Amino acid sequence: MTNHTTLLVRYGELGLKGGNRPAFERSLCANLKAAIGPLPGLRTERLRGRILVRAEVSLESSLQRASQVFGVTSVSPVQVVHLDLPPIVECAVQQVSHSLEENFLGQDKVLFRITVNRSNKAFPHTSRQIIDALAGAILPQFPQLQVQLKGAELDLEVDLREQQALVFARRRPGPGGLPVGTLGRGLTLLSGGIDSPVAAWMCMKRGLRMEFVSFDSFPHTGPQSREKIIRLAEQLSLWQPRTFLHIVPFAAYQEAIRDACPSPYRTVLYRRAMTRIACRLASRRKCKALVTGESLGQVASQTMQNIAAIEDASSLPILRPLIGMDKIEAIALARRIGTYELSTLPAPDCCTVFQPESPVLFATREETHAAEAALDVDTLTSNAVRGTEKLELPEEA
Ligand code: ATP
Ligand code: MG
Repeated sequence: MTNHTTLLVRYGELGLKGGNRPAFERSLCANLKAAIGPLPGLRTERLRGRILVRAEVSLESSLQRASQVFGVTSVSPVQVVHLDLPPIVECAVQQVSHSLEENFLGQDKVLFRITVNRSNKAFPHTSRQIIDALAGAILPQFPQLQVQLKGAELDLEVDLREQQALVFARRRPGPGGLPVGTLGRGLTLLSGGIDSPVAAWMCMKRGLRMEFVSFDSFPHTGPQSREKIIRLAEQLSLWQPRTFLHIVPFAAYQEAIRDACPSPYRTVLYRRAMTRIACRLASRRKCKALVTGESLGQVASQTMQNIAAIEDASSLPILRPLIGMDKIEAIALARRIGTYELSTLPAPDCCTVFQPESPVLFATREETHAAEAALDVDTLTSNAVRGTEKLELPEEA
């Protein structure tokens, strides 16, 4: 018996996309290969509405990476065995045992079915005979299994192909969503907080390839703010093939606001400045929307009026996937995607630099424009864009 693992990938929502389906599937295959590879002979193959990922080496250790690709609903490690009944049965027993341990530990009743796909018509046993042989070996060993064809929790599948048989029963859930890149590109304003990494992840899940921009107040904040942002962007890069992070030197713009504008408006004006700079970078990088971690009413500055005053400076749609989320929900998601520990590392954010005693809560358009009137917005924006540094992540060691 060969002991070679390939991966069977299931995807959900793609099926709904009608004429777009082939493009979505191509993206999904490319993203899977990027997440797993490079590996010798790595290739993907369509298999009855699923994708089979193969390589010349075993893909057992690639399971985790494959289950972090958006669009994937679940992944099964598949054993490839000789086209002969005894090794198929032996492998099936192992797979069922493994699946019970991995997915159903402590469950005293597991609804079970066997599915045989006999696409190789020359195989010298009928499907019925194969199922009987499998059931005869498996059921006595695992009394918790209860055969039920409809709504089974554990499905043992055997696929008889021309050269070999595929056997699988384990399943690891994927994140669902749509393949990154199928909806174009977005640019997330990434702070060191909890919310913006979650916002980025949510939009990546809906098919946006994400780039990141972060505003750095160095020397008013230390080098640890920059390190923290790089680590956050690296963590998020686990969910897409390539990641660019733009770091904007923001101190000069902030100093100009401090020196020339009424202090209660500082936070709103910082945000307008960020929005303008982000729009310029977005157009350069072909990003069609900005993404922020704003949530209604979460901090005093996030009132409808302030959100409107900030959006007024944008030439692009601003997506705010957290708008209706509680902090507790955002924290739970941040933990799940592995950004929470990084976000809670201590490091000051640029917004706290020169923070006023009493920031404006309900900015009006007129007052905002008046507050900004003394600034040379174009020059400040151009200078910040010119000084922006572009990193590709993960950085070479
Ligand atoms: P977060 O947890 O994402 O920082 P928050 O609830 O602390 O969000 P704010 O600090 O008011 O909210 O920031 C609102 C949004 O503005 C952030 O979610 C982020 O998208 C953007 N933002 C704030 N500071 C920065 C920064 N230094 N660089 C890039 N974007 C920023
Ligand atoms: Mg913040």
